[in-house]
Amino acid sequence: MLHPVICIDGPAASGKSTVARLVAHDLNFVYVDTGAMYRAFTFLTLEAGHDPTSRARIKQLLEKVDFHADIRDGEIALCEGKRDLTPHIRLPEINAAVSHVSTLPELREYLVNLQRKLRLIAPLVMEGRDIGTVVCSDSPFKYFIDACPTVRAERRRKQGQEDNLAARDKIDSSRSAAPLVRAADATLLDSGKHDARALADRIITEVRSRLQPGPSLP
Ligand code: C5P
Repeated sequence: MLHPVICIDGPAASGKSTVARLVAHDLNFVYVDTGAMYRAFTFLTLEAGHDPTSRARIKQLLEKVDFHADIRDGEIALCEGKRDLTPHIRLPEINAAVSHVSTLPELREYLVNLQRKLRLIAPLVMEGRDIGTVVCSDSPFKYFIDACPTVRAERRRKQGQEDNLAARDKIDSSRSAAPLVRAADATLLDSGKHDARALADRIITEVRSRLQPGPSLP
């Protein structure tokens, strides 16, 4: 049986992670950050000394890597063998390279398969760039969170992170494989006009009204 999935897409620093976490927590769904998966592969690519634009090198890495996405405490833990990759994925060099690595169709296929399999395990709130358009395009729950570039840049500055948002947006929106685009049936939410709590409450109310209460819905 496939569990329900709430799809939350949007550009970098749009505030989608904060909203997705609140929704997952309140509904007792598992929170899945798919950007973290692309970041984990970017880390492994750079750590191996590979060029992040080399399709051949990343294909080689995919063939031999022992990559797991395990559910732990309501979230996904990304590991290579027994090594937890989470502490390595938010560094400035990962921010700079991740949009290049994530253009590779073989990597996207690998991660999309993995993301879809998670629906067999638990109800999910999955955030990313292509969740409503590709990964779970059959879901009736789709949201696209955005804010103006100034608001997003200010958010990153406050987080103390070095991240060229405009460059990432450009690559993410113009790539041929699963570009960042709002699904036609996704609700657009502006995180510059409404805070994360208000957006999360709106999503939770809509989902609760459409899903029957049961073991997966408190
Ligand atoms: O969400 P986050 O900013 O951590 O994502 C990092 C990068 O991973 C994005 O800029 C994008 O290139 C890639 N990504 C993607 N598809 C997703 C999630 C993230 O291509 N579903």
